[in-house]
Amino acid sequence: MTYGMIHSTESCGTVDGPGIRFIAFTQGCPLRCQYCHNADTWEFGCGRRVTPESIVSEALGYRSFLDASGGGITFSGGEPLAQPEFLEAALREAKSHGLHTAIDTAGSVKPANIEQILEQTDLVLLDIKHIDDAACRILTGRSNKNTLEFAQLLSDRGIPVWIRHVLIPGITLNEEFLRRTGEFIGTLKNVERVEVLPYHQLGVYKWEALGLEYALKDVEPPTAEETQWAESLLNAHLVH
Ligand code: SF4
Repeated sequence: MTYGMIHSTESCGTVDGPGIRFIAFTQGCPLRCQYCHNADTWEFGCGRRVTPESIVSEALGYRSFLDASGGGITFSGGEPLAQPEFLEAALREAKSHGLHTAIDTAGSVKPANIEQILEQTDLVLLDIKHIDDAACRILTGRSNKNTLEFAQLLSDRGIPVWIRHVLIPGITLNEEFLRRTGEFIGTLKNVERVEVLPYHQLGVYKWEALGLEYALKDVEPPTAEETQWAESLLNAHLVH
């Protein structure tokens, strides 16, 4: 039987897709973003074991809220694409009940069943961590190659995408990098929205609880003006 490992769920999410969302946070992530506020989702093999049917059944308990708001179910993480068989089955189950489906991913892994996953996906929230490959390896521990290829695949398939980009002073808050990111976004044909997420330190306590050193402890959040400026650069080439 297919099953997945879930870190936690949220019944009334309002930022991870349209409307009110039931959010399933999958357990396990291959990246190690220096700013991660969900470091407790990193480890694979732990968490709560669920079947595709049982997690969708939990979401359906909130159906009246999801439907009335134009919402649905979002698989976030961790990295939902790192449990591809479970993800495909859970998306299929959700679609069989008429739920709008979204996945919140960094696109860092390339599952063999990605086409089947995308057939069941109404929206992808795609985190572009860093447009520069060398800088991305420092920031996340991995290349950005899979992410950028995934973005292209979504564009080719016409899957609606909301791009997300965390703005970190000294790392992504950089004119050249922001311009390059905006130019890349401009090559994609399916982007509905670009969101700049100002860096924050809300998850630091989880690093401390895990006994990990937090490398960005001296980095302050960007200002509102810096965030607006970054948004204008990322949207500069967007085609609607
Ligand atoms: S992809 Fe998300 S969960 Fe994984 S390390 Fe980065 S911020 Fe954390």
